[in-house]
Amino acid sequence: MATIIKTKKEIDILREGGKRLSAILHTVALKALPGVSEKELDQYAEELVRKGGDEPAFLHYQPDGADSPFPASLCVSVNNEVVHGIPTKDRVLKDGDIVSIDLGLKHKGMFTDMAITVPVGKVTKTDRELLKATKDALLTGIAEALPGKRTGDIGHAIEKFVGKRYGIVRILSGHGVGRAIHEDPYIPNFGKKGTGEVLRPGMVVAIEPMLNLGTHDVVLDRDQWTIKTADGKRSAHFEHTVLITENGPEILTEHE
Ligand code: MG
Repeated sequence: MATIIKTKKEIDILREGGKRLSAILHTVALKALPGVSEKELDQYAEELVRKGGDEPAFLHYQPDGADSPFPASLCVSVNNEVVHGIPTKDRVLKDGDIVSIDLGLKHKGMFTDMAITVPVGKVTKTDRELLKATKDALLTGIAEALPGKRTGDIGHAIEKFVGKRYGIVRILSGHGVGRAIHEDPYIPNFGKKGTGEVLRPGMVVAIEPMLNLGTHDVVLDRDQWTIKTADGKRSAHFEHTVLITENGPEILTEHE
């Protein structure tokens, strides 16, 4: 597995791209209101990305093994959908939904990746707690993104933090990111300490826990993209693009 160490010039571009991505995703989140269609969120995200002179990284993206390219800029995954939901104009957000919005951005040839899950209108306490736990699981994983630690240390910390409270999705993981939207290494959201690839300064990784209210089992929808919980219970997803530095993790997908 080839570890990719980014150059100083590449890191500067990723810093700018990450800031832009974070600002856009939070702006799109403000539109996640009852009555708004998934497609409207997607179109708004694409418009904001292109306005900055950048490109949406997921639009027409076709990974190895996929039957068809992804048809949108923004992944919109509602309630029991975990990730990779295809936004449609017919599906409209309702009060009490939770919606994961996941966006990749290509700025000057370099990629950053980010996701947040937000409440639509008023949601239950159970859902609010799920969102908070997933965000905190992400921050717990990021705290392990230190030089000399391994990818398994990140997964282990997330798994330990979550405990038996939620199902951690196991068939999907975080990943290296930067020159491409998906690079080595894999960053699982569970694992053993001291296993996996060694983290080194200059590596850039996307860490992205997905937590389910029920079991960790997921299924692929008939659309061949959307991943849903097998038991139909709700799921949340948070993701940041993180640079490993000598001084610790630097979250690139944050803005002022
Ligand atoms: Mg990702």
